[in-house]
Amino acid sequence: MADGFRKPIKMRVDVLALFPEILAPALKTGILKRVQDADKLIVNLHNLRDWATDKHKSVDDYPYGGGAGMILKPEPIFAAIAALNPETNAHVIYLTPQGIPLTQGVVESLSLESHLILLCGRYKGVDERVRHRLVTTEVSIGDYVLSGGEIAALVLIDAIGRVLPGALGDYESAHVDSFSHELLDHPHYTRPVEFADSGVPEVLLSGHHENIEKWRYAEALKRTAKCRPDLLQKLELSEEDVEILKAAGLME
Ligand code: SAM
Repeated sequence: MADGFRKPIKMRVDVLALFPEILAPALKTGILKRVQDADKLIVNLHNLRDWATDKHKSVDDYPYGGGAGMILKPEPIFAAIAALNPETNAHVIYLTPQGIPLTQGVVESLSLESHLILLCGRYKGVDERVRHRLVTTEVSIGDYVLSGGEIAALVLIDAIGRVLPGALGDYESAHVDSFSHELLDHPHYTRPVEFADSGVPEVLLSGHHENIEKWRYAEALKRTAKCRPDLLQKLELSEEDVEILKAAGLME
């Protein structure tokens, strides 16, 4: 992965898939559209069939050893990646349930790259030699099996796109979301003050910034303890943190 901490001036992402059109509408919407319009992100969608060499444009074949399901052939994928990555400096990612789990840390790290190639599988997956010879990193978006890698690639592009400079109106706001500080996000309220027999916590109306920050931190801590205790176990809690959790009955 990239060794610097500076975001690239422009990131190029090539998506190689059997059904790349799945990604097209999302790329024309919201923050992903904004980062592309601002020339911070270029996404090229490629159909693997364009590199098929036989007259039927076939990209899959039966598995050696028998069994159900088809395998994506190596030749079209090798040809496609050679064409998309002639200088061999791109980071080639295979989306697969066998990959490293996608976390905000992985997203931040990949957002420092200047060229990603996202390889999307279908059927039983790709010929193993693709993984051995071409793939830099394997990424999973969760412990479940999708029918293809296209949606997983879109998840990855969306998560990366929104941390690129210029993606959000207020760039800082990406850095106070869930996971950016290893805690889940604190609760949010907007107008009206009273709604559905429920009010907005007094402190948020006080204008006292220090107290507001303290409240938000405590709420984020409590929410993480309640919803994702596994995340909290990885953190070193201060005495103050322990007090907050004990007072909320979330720690003995
Ligand atoms: N036989 C494969 C296995 O058990 O690992 C699953 C193949 S799956 C039906 C077809 C394709 O969907 C995979 O090659 C991969 O590109 C994509 N895919 C499925 N689940 C995924 C996940 N959780 N994360 C990322 N990609 C996934």
